[in-house]
Amino acid sequence: MNVEEIGENTKMAREYALLGNYETSMVYYQGVIQQIQKMVTSIREPDRKHRWQKIRQELSQEYDHVKDINATLSSFKSDPVHDHGGIQAYRQPAAQPKHEPERDPDVWPPPTPVEHRPSPQYQRGGARKEPPRRSEPSKPSQRIAGRDRGGRGGPSQAGRGDPRGRAAGGSRDRGDKKGGKGDKDKKSSPTGEEGDEKKFDPAGYDKDLVENLERDIVQRNPDVHWGDIAGLTEAKRLLEEAVVLPLWMPDYFKGIRRPWKGVLMVGPPGTGKTLLAKAVATECGTTFFNVSSSSLTSKWRGESEKLMRLLFEMARFYAPSTIFIDEIDSICSKRGSSSEHEASRRVKSELLVQMDGVTGATGGEDATKTVMVLAATNFPWDIDEALRRRLEKRVYIPLPCAEGREQLLKINLREVPIDDSTDLAAIAAKLEGYSGADITNVCRDASMMAMRRRIAGLRPEEIRKIPKDELNQPTTMLDFEEAVKKVSKSVGKEDLEKYEKWMTEFGSV
Ligand code: ADP
Repeated sequence: MNVEEIGENTKMAREYALLGNYETSMVYYQGVIQQIQKMVTSIREPDRKHRWQKIRQELSQEYDHVKDINATLSSFKSDPVHDHGGIQAYRQPAAQPKHEPERDPDVWPPPTPVEHRPSPQYQRGGARKEPPRRSEPSKPSQRIAGRDRGGRGGPSQAGRGDPRGRAAGGSRDRGDKKGGKGDKDKKSSPTGEEGDEKKFDPAGYDKDLVENLERDIVQRNPDVHWGDIAGLTEAKRLLEEAVVLPLWMPDYFKGIRRPWKGVLMVGPPGTGKTLLAKAVATECGTTFFNVSSSSLTSKWRGESEKLMRLLFEMARFYAPSTIFIDEIDSICSKRGSSSEHEASRRVKSELLVQMDGVTGATGGEDATKTVMVLAATNFPWDIDEALRRRLEKRVYIPLPCAEGREQLLKINLREVPIDDSTDLAAIAAKLEGYSGADITNVCRDASMMAMRRRIAGLRPEEIRKIPKDELNQPTTMLDFEEAVKKVSKSVGKEDLEKYEKWMTEFGSV
């Protein structure tokens, strides 16, 4: 990925925001954030990686501001009379700096204080209303994953059938501050009824560390469903069996059928591993902790070991939980064994100790206490044996097949007008060897060609006067062909062979 291109796209994103064309600006922001994300996966040098992650965080904040403005404006436009003249509303200045902590785009916002949470209709299964879909940008406070158990009307009775959950269900007592591990059980259960909330009590822990973790972990429902992920049928089935079903049917997954201690997703970058993790969280409604290993080792250098312990402690508190550890190779690298920093060795062993203690491994216990570790890596060969053994289930996430590619085109182009000349199957055929992220980039690029042609050579004031409809012209077959030429494959043949070889040796499907 070309740094210049990233700079150029950032400039475009900001320019469009300043011009009030928030939707186009958002597309550029999404693109550039993804480009950086992709680049970060290939950077091995921690400081450089950290610097890029910071940039990504900053851009992600800008993107959130633009998204907020756009959402606010959209809410003004429910009256169709105003729909057309939206241009006035777009004159608002862009990004209003809010005083929020920096955030990683992959790390979802902290849990919202109870008093700001949405009414219970979004919070739990059963009669809950459908959550806002992606087209209505959701606010960080919407839908707390841990409280949304029940997914999509599936057999989500695990929590409800739990007598502990029922017993504690009525408790709204957040005033119980004695805290610590000892009184955990007295607190309201994660499976309690509507409006039932509980908050991890930092007593006995470093308050800053708890705050860091609360900020950088996920408890919000990421709102990614299986249907949003193209192809990967086998991976979805395996994840469902390994992670989702044990929570739905705890009685079945006992003894020899105990849930896997940990699941490792292996595959080239941009194939949908993070997306799958988000779908797991959404579909089974567990409290979701999204941890990027590189930020564990760089951002919290020195404290990572404590953080790891706290992470699992919190996961047990908010159980059932899924801990997603992205780029797990960066904490569990074999390569460092001699030169490896003492601190990172400690983090690694803490992770192993904690994984041995997770309830998912013991089976037969209260399913509401299950903590499942879901990890992802682009470099499985870098993972040492001790960890590999604990990540018992290893799932390969491959490049999309022809059918998956076509499905992905459809998913990506859901909200974009397409010209009749466009033959998606033919485009999918041309995209052989492209990763999901590459294909998303092709779609993004192609879908903006018409707009680029329309605004070429115009000055900002002129661009601003163009009616929205004129910019939103259908994307043609030619646009796609041009975009395919511009976006190259990010995964090489040798890399694929390496994955396949590793999976043959260590895979477990
Ligand atoms: P990974 O974690 O494997 O590096 P991600 O899950 O972060 O990949 O995917 C990056 C982006 O690529 C996603 O945000 C999505 O836009 C797109 N993408 C990749 N694979 C798929 C897929 N199978 N279905 C839908 N989108 C996908």
